[in-house]
Amino acid sequence: MKIENHILSDDDVDTRYVDCPKRGGAITGPDTIIIHYTGGSTAEATADYFYSSNVQASAHLVIDRNSPLIFQLVPFDTVAWHAGRSSYTFADGSERSGFNQYSIGIELDTAGPLVKTGSGYLAWFGKSYQAEETFFGTHQHQTEPGYWHAFTEGQIGCLLEVCRLLLVTYPIKYVLGHDDISPRRKIDPGPAFPMEQFRKHLLDLDRNQDGSELASEQSGRVTAPGLNVRSGPSVRHTAVADPLQYNQAVTILEEREGWYRIRASIELECWVSSRHVELRREV
Ligand SMILES: [Zn+2]
Repeated sequence: MKIENHILSDDDVDTRYVDCPKRGGAITGPDTIIIHYTGGSTAEATADYFYSSNVQASAHLVIDRNSPLIFQLVPFDTVAWHAGRSSYTFADGSERSGFNQYSIGIELDTAGPLVKTGSGYLAWFGKSYQAEETFFGTHQHQTEPGYWHAFTEGQIGCLLEVCRLLLVTYPIKYVLGHDDISPRRKIDPGPAFPMEQFRKHLLDLDRNQDGSELASEQSGRVTAPGLNVRSGPSVRHTAVADPLQYNQAVTILEEREGWYRIRASIELECWVSSRHVELRREV
């Protein structure tokens, strides 16, 4: 994955640049990444909406939920219209408003809040989802738990790869949710997004670029459909999660006699046969 002239590209992830006219001037920094969900049916529908609707809204990226596919609508050095009225008080007490000027906006393709019905879980636009696609939890600004369309491991892995690259390319210091900077207007990305873990993971990676053990991590991709993930480096070890998908991005932490200990997502570390993982050069 690389950024050239403020445009993202990758050999494996399908990155499509759509030159969206809804944009401002030169961005300041950028020093912040703002995470959103689309609340729509597909990433392509959202990208098309940003591109062609009359609504004064856009974003830098839209990351697909079900396949390695990213739409970019605005170059990273240019203001996109994703944050709207927004303000935040940072840990050091400094305040900021108008986040579009300083931030890269990344939209994750999910349907948002879901309502449980007799046959499934219904999105606001009428599409129904199955239980295994849902997340049940309480939003930080709400008191009652509810159902949300879950993000996928592949999608979060893709986001992580993008954010790592943004961190080394731009002076990024903060990762915030839209619901952090517009708490009375917005509920995205909501409780289904593991913000604390994601933020910690990104900052840990950043810190480790200075040469501790994680600096030797390599990234790779799964080259077989349904790669088993095990608790240890042999076929006798039990499966610890669902098999990995073809082309899924992983981080290799350790190698031992034909096996890799990998991080497949921010929540999953496990062992896989090294025969079915292809190493990639780091960015
Ligand atoms: Zn948003």
